[in-house]
Amino acid sequence: MAFAFHILGTSSSGNCSLLEASGTRVMLDAGFPGPRLEASLQKLGLEARALDAVMITHEHSDHCIGLAALLRQNPLLKVFTNRETARRIKDSVKADVNWQLFETGTTFEIGGLKVTSIPIPHDAADPVGFAIDCPAEDARPAKRLTWLTDLGHATTVVKHHVALADILVLEANYDEEMLELSKRPQSLKQRIKGNFGHLSNIQARDLLLGLREWQTTELYLGHLSKECNRTIIVDELMNAVRDQKTDLRITVIDPLEDNPVSLW
Ligand SMILES: [Zn+2]
Ligand SMILES: [Zn+2]
Repeated sequence: MAFAFHILGTSSSGNCSLLEASGTRVMLDAGFPGPRLEASLQKLGLEARALDAVMITHEHSDHCIGLAALLRQNPLLKVFTNRETARRIKDSVKADVNWQLFETGTTFEIGGLKVTSIPIPHDAADPVGFAIDCPAEDARPAKRLTWLTDLGHATTVVKHHVALADILVLEANYDEEMLELSKRPQSLKQRIKGNFGHLSNIQARDLLLGLREWQTTELYLGHLSKECNRTIIVDELMNAVRDQKTDLRITVIDPLEDNPVSLW
């Protein structure tokens, strides 16, 4: 199995990616309903039974709503999450689950992959991001893939992990003006903007501009809000990052796009 990373989708209405590396096929979050997940896997020529494991970042439905459907098709699928997240989602799954529980902040193995769970500030029970070390394969050097969405602000730990990522998926959730002008209730706006909500486009940009040294070559901006963001706004803001780091490829994931974005 050669290295491949597919973002099946990332936005405020659903998050799911697939990593194939070191002979292991693992899903990161399962935040689409069963039929959409199945259709996305089919586009890659895969089905749920071909997965070795799924990792769940937190219990919000845009990260785990498809888990029950996955487990119906692959009942022995290993589900990696922490205890608090498992407690929140177990009732919606209604099945015996092959839980693989980890402590937040620790490193564990999934097949040939080494995975570090990263605590993130977000209004869920015990939310995490993941840094996945993929060993060198064939002619490809070792790579670290880091997944960080749903964070109200960038903590020191988050910045540390961003700087170490070769491939980075980072949240750019909302444009401040669009959020302010939206018809959302004031309480929801405060939640999104708060320290345990989501990163704005400017917060994501400033996090990157504030790094002294970082090694990322592939950057994906994801978890965009369908209502309160546009890819073109994120893309233009990132010009400042492009100016600073010319070897960096930047892709903004369109929340309205159904087709996977793949890195081979
Ligand atoms: Zn969330
Ligand atoms: Zn989310």
